[in-house]
Amino acid sequence: MSNQAGAKHREETLNVLTQTQMVLKEALNKLGYGEDMFELLKEPLRVMTVRIPVRMDDGSIRVFTGYRAQHNDAVGPTKGGIRFHPEVTEDEVKALAIWMSLKCGIAQLPYGGGKGGIVCDPREMSFRELERVSRGYVRAISQIVGPSKDIPAPDVFTNSQIMAWMMDEYSRIREFDSPGFITGKPLVLGGSLGREAATARGVTIAIQEAAKVKGIDLKGARVAVQGFGNAGGYLAKFMHDAGALVIGISDAYGALYDPNGLDIDYLLDRRDSFGTVTKLFKNTISNEELLELDCDILVPAAIENQITTRNAYNIKAKIVVEAANGPTTLEATKVLSERGILLVPDVLGNAGGVIVSYFEWVQNNQGLYWSEEEVDRRLKEIMVKAFHTVYDTARIRKIDMRLAAYMVGVRRMAEACQLRGWV
Ligand code: GLU
Repeated sequence: MSNQAGAKHREETLNVLTQTQMVLKEALNKLGYGEDMFELLKEPLRVMTVRIPVRMDDGSIRVFTGYRAQHNDAVGPTKGGIRFHPEVTEDEVKALAIWMSLKCGIAQLPYGGGKGGIVCDPREMSFRELERVSRGYVRAISQIVGPSKDIPAPDVFTNSQIMAWMMDEYSRIREFDSPGFITGKPLVLGGSLGREAATARGVTIAIQEAAKVKGIDLKGARVAVQGFGNAGGYLAKFMHDAGALVIGISDAYGALYDPNGLDIDYLLDRRDSFGTVTKLFKNTISNEELLELDCDILVPAAIENQITTRNAYNIKAKIVVEAANGPTTLEATKVLSERGILLVPDVLGNAGGVIVSYFEWVQNNQGLYWSEEEVDRRLKEIMVKAFHTVYDTARIRKIDMRLAAYMVGVRRMAEACQLRGWV
């Protein structure tokens, strides 16, 4: 931390639910809603906590804690991923469910937001242990989920194999094949073409639109990406293919930097299934240094609270596009905005994942499958429209993009709640 940053360091909360509620309150206020609407939407309607006993490979039993939060179903069934991470908390899952509501509102999908999580570290579990915890979780929450109730999907450290086990378990419980219960499945089990790369495709479209309004040419633009998992890995590849110079990437253990551009194909080839690659190299920099690199575009694609008031003053990028959920704190959002940095918030930037999940669910329900071109064309249409709706709201109202995104995202849900007579 530089002295300047230290001097300006502001008090801030790192609790993502508190941060979310603060912006939500302001957004509802600006839309003309009263305290009652905030009271209804500030927390999920339902949060289920489960304890999942799992037989480990060594014969012992371990009991894992899991959550499923359903923010609001006034617009339609709830939707959102499941994360496997040792630091999952109930407040985090609640905030993530609210963010899903906002994403679905911005993209105009007929869903409310949901989210799940299991407190576990899949990096230290075997394939079969992961299967048992995945199936156990579905058994525990089976009462409250379903194709027209609440539809899970992948998130941090979960993938199409885990979706396959969960779909299989749910289908066994219900005694009929239920592909529409979960999205992000493997193709042969009713997955959609283009789903795996969808988050990064959506982020790429957001970057293209942001670059246009900032007058930045993507060809030769210097890009730094924090995180090399599903979102970060595909994104680095798409940026590289678009002619940008990916000068930095990182994983949970460190970062790689080359001012002349990294060899992304080589790094993708060497990373493991958790997106780890930097351990193979001696010459690394830290994640903190990566975020402060001299670059044009910075994409946090890892976890929450990475850009805070401790480093927001030192960010050199002209555009920050959030591929992760919640990587920038509320206070840091204000700092970036004051500094004229264009921040494309998570609920807009990474909506590509749930948009193509919606396409997958639609294809499952109608039993007719689309080409990848069809998926990508529809994704682009929604993302471009969403970007400009939020950007114009921010410009006209003279507010930052996050507040604008919350206003756009919550509007339809608030109206639906009112029409149903809930408020
Ligand atoms: N986990 C992803 C997200 O945070 C995707 C959710 C989904 O596809 O339902 O947006």
